[in-house]
Amino acid sequence: MAVWHACTVRQVLSELETDKDRGLAGTEAAARLERYGPNRLEQVRRRSLPLRLLGQLKDPMILVLLVAAGLSLWASGGEDWLDALIILGIVAVNAVISISQEDSAEKALEALRDLSAPMARVVRDGRIQRVPADQLVPGDIIRLEAGDLVPADARILEAASLQTDESALTGESLPVTKGALAPLPEDTPLADRRNMVAASTVVTRGRAVCVVTATGMETEVGRIAGLLLDQEENSTPLQKKMTEISKTLSFVCLCICAVLFGVGALQGRDLLEMFLTAVSLAVAAIPEGLPAVISIVLAMGVARMARRRAIVKKLPAVETLGCAGVICSDKTGTLTQNCMTVVDVWALRSGQRELAITIGALCSDANLEWKGRQPVCTGDPTEAALVYLAAREGLDKHQLEAELPRRAELPFDSERKLMTTVHQRPEGGFRVMVKGAPDVLAGRCRLTPGEAHRVAARNEAMAERALRVLGVAYKDLAFLPRDLNSHTLEQELTFVGLIGMMDPPRPEVRRAVGQCFAAGIRPVMITGDHKLTAVAIARELGIFRPGDLAITGEDLDFLPQGVLEEEIEKFSVYARVSPEHKMRIVQAWQARGKIVAMTGDGVNDAPALKTADIGCAMGASGTDVAKGAADMILTDDNFATIVSAVEQGRGIYANIKKAIHYLLSCNIGELLTLFLATVLHFHQMPLVPVQLLWLNLVTDALPALALGVEPVEDGIMNQPPRDAHASLFAGGFAFRLAWQGIMVGVLTLAAYVLGEYVLSDPGETYAAANTMAFATLTLSQLFHAFDVRSERASLLHIGLFTNPAMNRAFLIGLAMQLAVLCLPPLQAVFHTVPMSPAEWTVVLILAVMPVVVCETVKAVSRAQEARPVQKKVPCAPGIRQ
Ligand code: ATP
Repeated sequence: MAVWHACTVRQVLSELETDKDRGLAGTEAAARLERYGPNRLEQVRRRSLPLRLLGQLKDPMILVLLVAAGLSLWASGGEDWLDALIILGIVAVNAVISISQEDSAEKALEALRDLSAPMARVVRDGRIQRVPADQLVPGDIIRLEAGDLVPADARILEAASLQTDESALTGESLPVTKGALAPLPEDTPLADRRNMVAASTVVTRGRAVCVVTATGMETEVGRIAGLLLDQEENSTPLQKKMTEISKTLSFVCLCICAVLFGVGALQGRDLLEMFLTAVSLAVAAIPEGLPAVISIVLAMGVARMARRRAIVKKLPAVETLGCAGVICSDKTGTLTQNCMTVVDVWALRSGQRELAITIGALCSDANLEWKGRQPVCTGDPTEAALVYLAAREGLDKHQLEAELPRRAELPFDSERKLMTTVHQRPEGGFRVMVKGAPDVLAGRCRLTPGEAHRVAARNEAMAERALRVLGVAYKDLAFLPRDLNSHTLEQELTFVGLIGMMDPPRPEVRRAVGQCFAAGIRPVMITGDHKLTAVAIARELGIFRPGDLAITGEDLDFLPQGVLEEEIEKFSVYARVSPEHKMRIVQAWQARGKIVAMTGDGVNDAPALKTADIGCAMGASGTDVAKGAADMILTDDNFATIVSAVEQGRGIYANIKKAIHYLLSCNIGELLTLFLATVLHFHQMPLVPVQLLWLNLVTDALPALALGVEPVEDGIMNQPPRDAHASLFAGGFAFRLAWQGIMVGVLTLAAYVLGEYVLSDPGETYAAANTMAFATLTLSQLFHAFDVRSERASLLHIGLFTNPAMNRAFLIGLAMQLAVLCLPPLQAVFHTVPMSPAEWTVVLILAVMPVVVCETVKAVSRAQEARPVQKKVPCAPGIRQ
């Protein structure tokens, strides 16, 4: 293979059999894709199914259970084979459930990764197209802009002010200047190959046209295997905490089971049976499925958010969203529609209106094409508006470009707030055309004080009408300076005029802003635009309220960070800021203990996006760099989407909490039942081992998962954000778990006692009582799942049928349980006996008791909250009460 950096451009193109302007033909690209494979770095392979099944056996409790079953089989001389078989069957079913749960969680997350996969701009069949980056092949002509992730290794054919950040590859942290340079010596080290760009590096400035030389594992980054393993930790704080907690709980469970076994042994019960009971109880009561349930609920929630246009890239963000106290949002495109229409053109000197429009059109990269009578603009909306304006005034951009061809350019960046192009004049010499923020541009122009005043006044008048204003200027040069930079090109200009464009606010944002205030979240606008434009729009949207302040980046520079922290709550608009200011704003809010969501799209926004607790990148207009740094991508670039994501985030957290609530309170019930039965010296255990294991199957996974998809509760956005540092078990949660668990346990024991001493026939006491306890424990848990659906609201209020998954889980559980209670072959297997109508009545009454009790408790606490607090009226002096 050729050493690409040592070849001339022409050699590279001919070797790769491609054309700089037309690119590859679509058919050829497809054929090459077949030959070279997708442009993707190989992923870590997934484990095979048998291995994963074996992985399930890693759980020591399952092993102990199998050993215990084997022991009891052996001790009974093979008589207990049915029990042993059932235990084996249940263990197998459990393993299959866990694996399929893992699978569905993983698939959901993978689908999300695909959604946020990068795209590339490629020239094929003579047209610029956007294709998924993994479709690139050697020979493709790609276009790169600031903020792009370089999708493959490529030789540079054409470049303007190109700089890349290669730290991911070479460790060099400073940006490297690159260009379409002459061939380099073959032995040039990677870091010095200035005529090449490498996959996984980032364009920090400028733009380029390149030809792809290597893709996928053939790229430089593909060769560095170590990089592939650089996978980010992607579990949420709650997941981590719950994994810890479930370890502790497992230990506690084990201790209780050990005590149970010890006490049982002292009481002279059958040792082996006691052992099997203790182990089965441990298997049933240990919340081993808890971390898996949390992952699934998270994955399902994240999939639901993706359908609502918020793609969560880093799972922890889901939880953090629920704590968000401040949302710092860009203006253009996020709060507004990014749909610009020029409504005002003003020239400083008479007769220069056309010149102003010409500069606007020529000094931009947007293009206008006509599809029939419909104009279709491509490129940045600000620039598209300028090109469209020119067309409206009868100035065709292509024709203008033919007369004044572009020879050089300094691309726009949000730091300089200017863009410059250099054009060859037909009469000789060059014309430098500059457009940009009027206040910045005016400083680069020769203006008399009177003119400067007029420009400023007109700019402010336009800005007050909420217009986005661009200034245009030019200068003529006889020769091109050797160095083309801001210094040589963007000084000593002649000011021409101002162009004002309208960018209407997004209609849905006003409501979203209202929701923010109701939810205790402060919306803040951060924009590169003029202060007056920003304030006018912020006011219209309700972000800027009476008493609020707006501040510019320039003023911010004079404000020490300490003072900013003190005063931060006063500012709701930051105007003319550069990306570094965003960082300071995030940090100041964080210093006030707030969890900050921040939007960003540009290449320089990455640090702020990383610093923010929830970095939100724009899916449509954002750069790859911003997307890479973000926790979440908004596919529609919309502020309202962030607010709905916060709502979803709060809902997901609440649902996870419900699943935990359900699982733990039920486990407490199970433990308590057997523990009390042993300590109180019951003749027999209220449940036998296979029943315990069955119970685990019927009541654990399905209802908990159904709670995980509970619809977001009404009023969740009328509460303040959750305290990120508060314990999950705070606020009475632990207490609720405990008393509800105790309730389930007591009801089960009551069923047993009633069965043994009150209801059953003398000969059959144990089996009947045992069946009643088994039925009560299972059914009461199934009913209890409905209590957990809301912490406060009555079941009737939230609606019995609003969570179909829950109703399905209930019916499946019920059917399974009825089967083992009523079908004779299963009765034999699960040691149950038919129950009399009286026994059934008692079981049903006890099983629905949790609903009755929980509804009553909720009603009482609602009534207490609703009762008006009696205020002490302060007495006026001298008046006695
Ligand atoms: P936001 O940060 O809310 O998206 P913004 O789009 O106005 O706001 P920037 O894109 O950084 O922020 O633009 C800052 C200023 O630079 C604008 O107010 C405008 O005056 C000027 N500007 C924007 N786009 C261009 C461009 N393509 N060429 C020249 N100047 C531009």
